[in-house]
Amino acid sequence: MFENLSDRLSGVFDKLTKQGALSEDDVKTALREVRVALLEADVSLSVARDFVKAVQDKATGQAVTKSVTPGQQVVKIVHDELVHVLAGDEEEIGTLKVDNPPAPILMVGLQGGGKTTTTAKLARRLKDRQGKRVLMASLDVYRPAAMDQLRILGEQIGVDTLPIVPGQSPADIARRAKQQATMGGYDVYMLDTAGRLSIDEALMAEVEEVKAITSPRETLLVVDGLTGQDAVNTAENFDDRIGISGVVLTRMDGDGRGGAALSMRAVTGKPIKFVGLGEKMDALEEFHPERIAGRILGMGDIVALVEKAQETIEAEQAQRMIKRFQKGQFNMNDLKMQLEQMQKMGGMESIMGMMPGMGKMAKQVQDAGFDDKIIARQIALVNSMTKKERANPALLQASRKKRIAAGAGLEVSELNKLLKMHRQMADMMKKMGKMGKGGMLKQAVK
Ligand code: GDP
Repeated sequence: MFENLSDRLSGVFDKLTKQGALSEDDVKTALREVRVALLEADVSLSVARDFVKAVQDKATGQAVTKSVTPGQQVVKIVHDELVHVLAGDEEEIGTLKVDNPPAPILMVGLQGGGKTTTTAKLARRLKDRQGKRVLMASLDVYRPAAMDQLRILGEQIGVDTLPIVPGQSPADIARRAKQQATMGGYDVYMLDTAGRLSIDEALMAEVEEVKAITSPRETLLVVDGLTGQDAVNTAENFDDRIGISGVVLTRMDGDGRGGAALSMRAVTGKPIKFVGLGEKMDALEEFHPERIAGRILGMGDIVALVEKAQETIEAEQAQRMIKRFQKGQFNMNDLKMQLEQMQKMGGMESIMGMMPGMGKMAKQVQDAGFDDKIIARQIALVNSMTKKERANPALLQASRKKRIAAGAGLEVSELNKLLKMHRQMADMMKKMGKMGKGGMLKQAVK
C-alpha cells in the first residue's frame, strides 16, 4: 500500500547510510527529499513540514550511538517519528469501548467507503474475540438494498440484525435498536447510518439526532484509505460536526498512496483504530503503527540494528548503576531512572515478571493497583524535587513535601507512598548487592 513512498524513501536513505560521516547539509538534503516523497504520497503539507522538522531537531540533538553509522541512526529517527505521527500518544488503537451493556457504536461515513462491510467485520470481531452478543441495525432508510446487505452479512457471520420495519425514520430505528438491545440482553448494538456522497447538511443533522438518542460509546468514521487527503478532510468535517472517537481506514489492501494514514492522526487528533484489508469478513486488522512505519520505510534491518546498539548502551548504564547500588547508593535520581525504565519496558508488572524470583512481587504490585499512570505521577513528583532533595531524600520534611506535592499537582500522601517505596527499594538493592556477583539484580539485567 505504500510502495511508491517506500521506494522513494529507501532511495534517499540508501545514499545516507552508506556514508561514514554526515554533515548537517547531508541530512538537510535527505530530509528535503523525504518531504517531497511525503507530499507525493498525499501527506498534507503541514504534517510533512512538521515531520521533517521533528526529524531534523532530533537528528541534530542526538549523539551518535556507537557501532552504527550516522545515516543508520537517521533512519531510526525517521522510523520513530513515523510511528509517532501514525499513532500519536493514544493507546486506543484496536480497542472499542463496549462496557456498560448495551454499548452503542455509531458508524458514520461517506457512501461506498466501506461502512456496512466494516460494521459487520467489527461485529464479528467483537463476537469471536470478546464473546460479545452484538445487534446490528441499518439506519439507511434511503436504500433498502443497504438494509438487506447488512442483514445478509449478519446471517453470514452469525450476528443478529434488527428486523427491518419499512417507513421508519432513522431516529425511530435508533430508538428501536436501543430498546431491542436492552431487552434482548445484547452487549453491543451497532448503528450503520446512511452513507452520503459528500458532506451533506441534512444527513449530518440526522446522524446528530441519532447520536443524541443513543449517546454512543464509540462514533467510528469509516473512510476509504485510497482517497488520501480527501479522507482526512472528510474526517475533519465529521469530527467538527458530529465528533468522532476514531477512524477505520478501508481498502488499505490496495496499492494507493497511503498518505491518509500519515496525516489522519496529526490533522484530526483522532486515532486510526482499525484498517480494512479486503472484502472478506476477516479482512480487518488493528492498526499497527510500527508495522505500517516499517512498511513505509522498508528498512527493518537498520531500525533493528540501531535499537540493538541503543540497548547495549542501556545495559552498560545499568551495570554502572548496579555497582552503585551494591555500595548502598540509591537516591531519588536512581529511582526516577528505574521508573522511566519501567515505563519504557511496558510497566512495572512486566519488568518484575522478567526478574527471577519476583513473580510474586509482580502480583502484589498489580493487586495494589500499581499501573503506568502511577509511574508517570511518581516521575512528576521526583521532577518536582530540587537537586539536593533528590540526592538526599532524608531532607524531605513537611514543608518541603508540601511544596513538592503541589509542584506535581498531587497530594502529600502520594509523595509519602513514593518515599516509602524508595526506602523499600533502597533496602532491597542493598540486600541484593550483598548477594555478590551472582546476585539477583545482576542476573536480571543480563
Ligand atoms: P458503504 O456504502 O460505506 O456501506 O460501503 P460498503 O460496505 O457497501 O462497501 C463498498 C464496497 O467496498 C464493497 O464492495 C466492499 O466489499 C468493499 N470494501 C469494503 N472495505 C474494503 C476493504 O477494506 N478492502 C477492499 N478491497 N474492499 C472493501
